[in-house]
Amino acid sequence: MADRCIGTNKSGKPCSAKPLPGSDRCPWHDPAWADRRKAWSVRGGRNKSNAARAKKQLPAGVLSTDELRGVLGITIARVLRGDVEPGVGSSVASLARAYVSVTEAGAVETLTAQVEELRSLIGTRGSA
Ligand SMILES: [Zn+2]
Repeated sequence: MADRCIGTNKSGKPCSAKPLPGSDRCPWHDPAWADRRKAWSVRGGRNKSNAARAKKQLPAGVLSTDELRGVLGITIARVLRGDVEPGVGSSVASLARAYVSVTEAGAVETLTAQVEELRSLIGTRGSA
């Protein structure tokens, strides 16, 4: 039994990994491990692409109106293509409505505070 795997890596160089017990090849080169390798790579790819998609589509924190419109546009296109369940589309629509009302409430609060500040400035000047 060899103390180095007899396989070659992608660049054509001999593999330097340790062979599996009772084999002359490592887990990456042993044909008996092909199914396991396939499962690892599918899982790895899925985790990577889910994270990348989430990062690309949903910027962290506050969404601008354009970003929110983008999320809705992507979701609508995906629902129509059948890539996303209509129920997920409905959830996104309902979250977007909630997002807009919270944003509007924030804007009203800011305006109210500014109006009060102006009133107090006018009041101070008037009484001076
Ligand atoms: Zn190997």
